[in-house]
Amino acid sequence: MEKRKIYLDNSATTQTDEAVVKEMLPYFSDIYGNASSFHSFGREARTALDEARTKIASLLNASPEEIIFTGCGTESDNLAIFGILSAFGKKGHIITSKIEHHAVLHSCERLEKNGYEVTYVDTDKSGKVCAEDVIKAVKENTLLVTIMHANNEVGTIQPIEEIAAGLKIINKNRKDKIYFHTDAVQTAGKIKLDVEKLGADLLSIAAHKFHGPKGIGVLYVKKGTNISPIIFGGHHENGLRPGTENVAFAKAMAKALEIADADMQEHNKYVFRLREKLKKGILDTIPQVFINGSGENSVAGILNVSFTYIEGESLLLKLDMKGIAASTGSACASGSSDPSHVLTAMCVDPIAAQGAIRFSMSYKNTEEEIDYVLSVLPQLVDSLRAMSPVWQSKKND
Ligand code: PLP
Repeated sequence: MEKRKIYLDNSATTQTDEAVVKEMLPYFSDIYGNASSFHSFGREARTALDEARTKIASLLNASPEEIIFTGCGTESDNLAIFGILSAFGKKGHIITSKIEHHAVLHSCERLEKNGYEVTYVDTDKSGKVCAEDVIKAVKENTLLVTIMHANNEVGTIQPIEEIAAGLKIINKNRKDKIYFHTDAVQTAGKIKLDVEKLGADLLSIAAHKFHGPKGIGVLYVKKGTNISPIIFGGHHENGLRPGTENVAFAKAMAKALEIADADMQEHNKYVFRLREKLKKGILDTIPQVFINGSGENSVAGILNVSFTYIEGESLLLKLDMKGIAASTGSACASGSSDPSHVLTAMCVDPIAAQGAIRFSMSYKNTEEEIDYVLSVLPQLVDSLRAMSPVWQSKKND
């Protein structure tokens, strides 16, 4: 019998949609010119690139000149942070949160080593940053605030509009504007992103999180933002991101975002139902489990569960042997045995944090797949707990 394969790691990456693959294929074989070349091959590629940029801009309620293509979410975050600070040309203070993706956290840690001051704002138990805490952290020398739109491990949505409104008031009386960046890598294609409404100056997204290809991202840069490139070369992407543009991936990204946008409500309803089914099934059949994150104010497809008294990594291995793919949190942190920085910031008990698993669903998953997971999970958890002396002594508490 063929082994089952169930993919519940859609926050790490997603399967590229068939329509998206179809959209990009001609740009490998037929329309392969360099979009910066002046001849007809180049002009054809440029037209396609412009179309992709215009479509993405319109889906984000931005202007085409505000859309900068990059190679991934990490690059968009790095360009936002280092690009803004480089344009200031002086050292200063940055505000971020303790639950950011490593693309932001490790950038901030690097900046600290280089003499910048960084405030890492706390979250509440659900993983939500308080907008007031961010505003209170502003200092004379604050240059940049970077807070993610939704967390990748627990899905909690952050009060971006509130933070933007607070900063707008502060900025009225300052010589140097405090720029506001949000990492929307986990919300693009799942929550309607309207850059005007959100109020951030910079916003990062990556195509592979919403059924587009890996290898392309976008940084939205609000008109008038003082930002410098962080790599150097030609004058591509408004002088901000040199290198020959990937027209095929740009077209694919625009198509993926268009599909995600059109089907968003329906997909969110469906994925939410899958998540609630999985959650209920786990809570009904397995003792001593805890759900991490708010559930209500979160992206629909993420379920982070702590199975106490076991190692999350061991459960992942057992799930993998049954053909089920999940993760212990961020794909970029896997391989590390440290407890998740996100769960630690949320004050999750260390024993619960050790046994945390993230299931992340997309519209490609089915109810039948969730039934299968629920049919094998209790036994897998039991078998691991049977090896835990602490569980043996605690199980009747
Ligand atoms: N930011 C967040 C919130 C993410 O979840 C990820 C990827 O998991 C990234 C940034 C990095 O994106 P990429 O893997 O496209 O570089």
